[in-house]
Amino acid sequence: MNLVFLGPPGAGKGTQASKVSENRGLPHISTGDILREAVAEETPLGVKAKAFMDSGSLVPDDLVVSIVAERLERADCADGFVLDGFPRTIAQAEALDATLEGMGRSLDGVLYFKVDDDQVVRRLSGRRICRDCGENYHVDFMPPQTPGVCDKCGGELYQREDDKAGTVRERLKVYYAQTADLVDYYRERGLLVDVDASLVPSAVREEVAASVGALEGKED
Ligand code: AMP
Repeated sequence: MNLVFLGPPGAGKGTQASKVSENRGLPHISTGDILREAVAEETPLGVKAKAFMDSGSLVPDDLVVSIVAERLERADCADGFVLDGFPRTIAQAEALDATLEGMGRSLDGVLYFKVDDDQVVRRLSGRRICRDCGENYHVDFMPPQTPGVCDKCGGELYQREDDKAGTVRERLKVYYAQTADLVDYYRERGLLVDVDASLVPSAVREEVAASVGALEGKED
């Protein structure tokens, strides 16, 4: 199962991708997570990416495309993958097609997480993430048992710098300007599956599981 999870920031792609990854044993590849790790470790990639990320704009295509191409070559992707936050531009989508073609593979489906802007802003401004294990929470909709502490590992929860109000608006603008065209790109190729991402996480999870199941049926 070679899957892409597409949609605006805050649509729940990461939360759902990690569930599918857990249930199906497929690697969850989040370019945002890879880039944040590179920034934290101050690698050459991280140093180049930091300013773009802090301002809410996209990191240049060539940097991101090569990270993903390398990641897909690894052995754990042999049975498939869930790409979250990539591709984000038509150029990235074309590069992904070319990379997969070179491997004799192709995408099985693109799940499109649909949610409106007001909900994106509410979700992102309340989002908290565990510093240690990366688990996601929301102060109102998915609160941890103890405020500020991860239920899973006891790690400290923090708010991403780019989840603060001003940057969220910029990220939405960037989404409409550079990423939203991918909906048509994949619809035209018969790969798009709509997901109502405005529902509560458990309901979205069911819809996602059903969609992935249906794609698997198609593949057989
Ligand atoms: P995310 O965690 O997916 O919201 O990504 C956080 C930030 O990382 C984005 O605002 C971009 O600056 C950068 N980023 C993540 N994925 C990509 C991508 N596919 N192309 C360009 N920039 C990206």
